[in-house]
Amino acid sequence: MILEVSAGMMPLVVRARMAAGVAHGVPWGISLDGILASELRENAKAVARAAGTDYTPYSLDTVPEDLDLPLARCTGDGAGGWHWAATFAYPENEVPGPHVQYWSARPDQHALDQMAADLPALVSERQGRYRSRVMPLPLTVCRHLVWRAVGDPGAVAELLAPIVSIGKKRGAGHGHVLSWTVDEQSDGDRWEFAHLHPDGSLGRTAPPACLHDLDHVRTGGEGQMGLRPPYMHPAVRTHVLLPASSR
Ligand SMILES: [Zn+2]
Repeated sequence: MILEVSAGMMPLVVRARMAAGVAHGVPWGISLDGILASELRENAKAVARAAGTDYTPYSLDTVPEDLDLPLARCTGDGAGGWHWAATFAYPENEVPGPHVQYWSARPDQHALDQMAADLPALVSERQGRYRSRVMPLPLTVCRHLVWRAVGDPGAVAELLAPIVSIGKKRGAGHGHVLSWTVDEQSDGDRWEFAHLHPDGSLGRTAPPACLHDLDHVRTGGEGQMGLRPPYMHPAVRTHVLLPASSR
C-alpha cells in the first residue's frame, strides 16, 4: 500500500475537548473521516437549499459518492480497497466503564388518535409495532477524544470548527464538544498516523494488505464493515481488519 499525500498535508493530532464524553452504538470510536464527510455533506446541502437546487439524499439504494476530504489516502489493497489517512476516536483520561444509559420511547396516544381515522380502543404498549421500548446507550466518559491523521491542518480545522457535538443522541446533550485543536506533527511517521492509535493498536478499519508483515499490531479481529464513510452503508461493506477496542 502507498500513502498518496498532497502538498501541504502532514501528520496531525486532532483533539476534541469534551463536556462529558460521547455516546456510540459500536465498540470503537467515531471516525474522523466520517465527521469531515458529514460536515461536507451538510455544507453541500445548505448550498443546494440556498440556490434552490436538488440535493441527492442519503439512501441505502444508491452507492454513495466519495467526497474530497482534506486527508491523504492509503491505497490499501491497491484494488479499490483504499481508505482515508485518519483514525477513529481514541479516548484520553477515560473514566473506566462500562457506562450505559437507557432511553425509553412510547407512542403518543393523543397523536395516534389525531392521525388515524379508525384507532383501536387500546394500542398496546407491551406488544406489536407500537410497543414502548427501552434501549441501551453505551457511553465513553472522557475529557478528550484524540484522532491521528495525515492531512491539511488548516482545511481540517476549518471543517471541524463549527461542529458542536458528535456521536449518538446529540439532541439529548451527548457528545458535546467544547473545543477542537489540530496539532501538526511534521516528524511523525505517516503510515502510523494513517492507521494506528497513540498506543500502537489498529485505529481504524483497514484492508488486511495494510498490515502485511505487521503481526505485532493489535487489532479487533476481522469482520464486514466499510473502509470509508458512510461506514455503515451496505454498498461499502467489505472484508476488513477491525480497530482494536479497549472494551
Ligand atoms: Zn492503509
